[in-house]
Amino acid sequence: MLAFALYVFLPAGMATTFSAVVGLGAVALTLAGVRRRPPSRRMAWWMFAAGLTMWVAGDTIYASEAIITGGHTYPSWADACYLAAYPMLVVALFRLARFRRRRELAGLIDTAMSATGFGLVYWVFVIGPIVREPGMSLLTRLVSAAYPTCGVLLFAVAGPLLVQQGRRSPATWMLTFGSAATLIGNVGYTVIPPDGGLKDRLVFGAFLFAYFAFAGAALHPSGNMPDSRPADMQGWQRITVLTATTLLVPAVLFVEARGGTEQVDIQAIAVGAVVLFLLMLIRLSGFFATVQRQSEQLERLAMRDDLTGLANRRLFEQYLSQALRDGLVQVAVLDLNGFKEVNDTFGHATGDQLLIVVADRLREVMRGDDVVARMGGDEFALLVREVSPTAMSAIAERISASLRRPVDANGQQLLVSASVGTAGNESGEVSSDEVLRRADWAMYAAKRAGGGRHLRYTAELDAQATVRARAGAELRTALEQGQFHLVYQPIVELPGGRIVSVEALVRWTHPERGFVSPAEFVPIAEETGLIIELGEWILRQACARAVSWFAEFGDVAPQRISVNVSARQLAEPGFAGLVGAVLTETGLRPEQLVVELTETAVFDGGQALRTVELLHKRGVRIALDDFGTGHSSLTLLQTVPVDVLKVDKSFVDKVTMAGRHAVIATALIQVSDGLGLQAVAEGVETAEQAEELYRLGYRLAQGYHFGRPVAQPDFTREFAA
Ligand code: C2E
Ligand code: MG
Ligand code: MG
Repeated sequence: MLAFALYVFLPAGMATTFSAVVGLGAVALTLAGVRRRPPSRRMAWWMFAAGLTMWVAGDTIYASEAIITGGHTYPSWADACYLAAYPMLVVALFRLARFRRRRELAGLIDTAMSATGFGLVYWVFVIGPIVREPGMSLLTRLVSAAYPTCGVLLFAVAGPLLVQQGRRSPATWMLTFGSAATLIGNVGYTVIPPDGGLKDRLVFGAFLFAYFAFAGAALHPSGNMPDSRPADMQGWQRITVLTATTLLVPAVLFVEARGGTEQVDIQAIAVGAVVLFLLMLIRLSGFFATVQRQSEQLERLAMRDDLTGLANRRLFEQYLSQALRDGLVQVAVLDLNGFKEVNDTFGHATGDQLLIVVADRLREVMRGDDVVARMGGDEFALLVREVSPTAMSAIAERISASLRRPVDANGQQLLVSASVGTAGNESGEVSSDEVLRRADWAMYAAKRAGGGRHLRYTAELDAQATVRARAGAELRTALEQGQFHLVYQPIVELPGGRIVSVEALVRWTHPERGFVSPAEFVPIAEETGLIIELGEWILRQACARAVSWFAEFGDVAPQRISVNVSARQLAEPGFAGLVGAVLTETGLRPEQLVVELTETAVFDGGQALRTVELLHKRGVRIALDDFGTGHSSLTLLQTVPVDVLKVDKSFVDKVTMAGRHAVIATALIQVSDGLGLQAVAEGVETAEQAEELYRLGYRLAQGYHFGRPVAQPDFTREFAA
């Protein structure tokens, strides 16, 4: 402030001298500031100081000229010094402001467009008059044009900082204002006609300001840090800037025409227009490329499974359709066994982890051009081109093998297996839907046959499926029309043969086919889910029957009734509740009901095991049916609360044979006794078997020898015998 006040009152001739002195001070301050800068930014400040030094040199020459000769030559060595400063200043400022620049091509083109537009205006209105000025030497013209140009360049480096968004530090502000002042000074220097004192005063006043601003920027602590990166220009802002630049050309023409300039600079305007047009073209193609890229990205996202990164069903179907058009294709569909249990027991995070590991294993096994997809849930699919069905079976085996290795998911060691179905187009043209359906069918058949298997689609599978579908529909009708009834087989005491209990067994009399074995229709009822309704009917029927016998026969009536319950029923969370309700309804006491289940139903744990535990706690007795035929009969005895072991017929059949055949029946009665359980020998057909079983220690038996399953066993007769 003081310096400016002094400056205004100085005699005109002293302005330059004053400027030189202030400039020297500014250089000193800048150098003092440099040492406080981080090393990465020092170089730029050194260069800045060097540029300012050139200005001071210019000022000194200019001032001494005025003192010695009382006037100025133009151009002179002073001008050479002034102009020599600009390369250094521009580079220094560029380095200091570098962090603010957007690097992407779009930003560069925007900048180029603005620069071209501005350059055109600048050329037509500033440089044009200088070039056309009559009676100037070439050197004079060049120097005259160089001043405003250098000013514009310097400002062009700092200027964009003004229009960008984001916070600006005081140091940045000072750099920007300094370069703005330089621009004003330079334009003034060439444009204002020499008129003695006023021109110098104005021009050097601007430079004085620039000295102060630059020195301030060099000293201010905020000059240490790059400014926070400004937000990019908003779409509409860009469009406004771009539109404004493209409208510049007609605007320039208009102004020139209105101003009545005798010599319109057609060439410059034409070149500017062409360059602007080309830049706009590049810019627009960039826009289109971006839109294209984004839509491709979106498409990719829509075609991938989020969790595993595998192709999803849509993408798989696309590949499959294409591959079917191209040639031989083999497809495998696989479904994890026990995935639901993993989810239920360990939670979804573990389930997800398991799916990711499975996806990785599939990727490992497959070749690069095969397609691996997650079709949803725990179902995956593979597509292999140009291989034979036999080769595809080998691949399916490899997959099964790789999935059998234990999986570490969220710290849990899990054993998984998959049911795999394969199908292909080797026997003729098929649609992609049909190939997938066939592979699906084969997979379901593999699952039905027991998990962890691979099956290939055959036409018979379809035939079976049709039979199944028909049977499913028929079962429903049968239930609605009362084609089911129950029969009861006695369970007797050894050696006397008194009936202590009965097992309820369901029968289906088909209106045309007659008797249908439960071994045939119970599995279908399980698959279709009809077993839930059928099972409820059986349970209610059997309990009610037992109660009616108590009323009718009193002491002679069987003390208990056994009801077979399938895996699907036990897995139903409401099953224990249903049993409770039926007991209350019918008036049967819990300990009078025996629920017979097979090992496979509770093998996986989960809901089925919880149901069994609940029933047991309420006093319902639990029997393990067909005991000894499963994989882990003995292990189950540790986890499942069991009251009764029904020793399978296959062991009973052998008790009368010599030597080692009777060993298992012997062992099982020892296990049963040891654990305090009741053992029932199933399928006893002869008196010899009954005798031998009794000798081994069996006290309960069931079989044709004691009575076939009938609508109503003769309790009194058996007792009398
Ligand atoms: P299971 O529960 O082991 O039933 C015993 C089966 O052995 C019955 O066959 C019975 O008739 C048969 N059996 C009894 N004594 C002898 C014998 O001395 N010799 C021979 N060869 N067989 C004998 P069934 O009634 O055909 O039932 C077969 C299977 O169907 C049952 O095996 C059971 O798993 C299932 N099942 C039967 N009724 C029902 C039911 O109401 N609900 C459910 N979920 N399953 C049932
Ligand atoms: Mg049974
Ligand atoms: Mg059995």
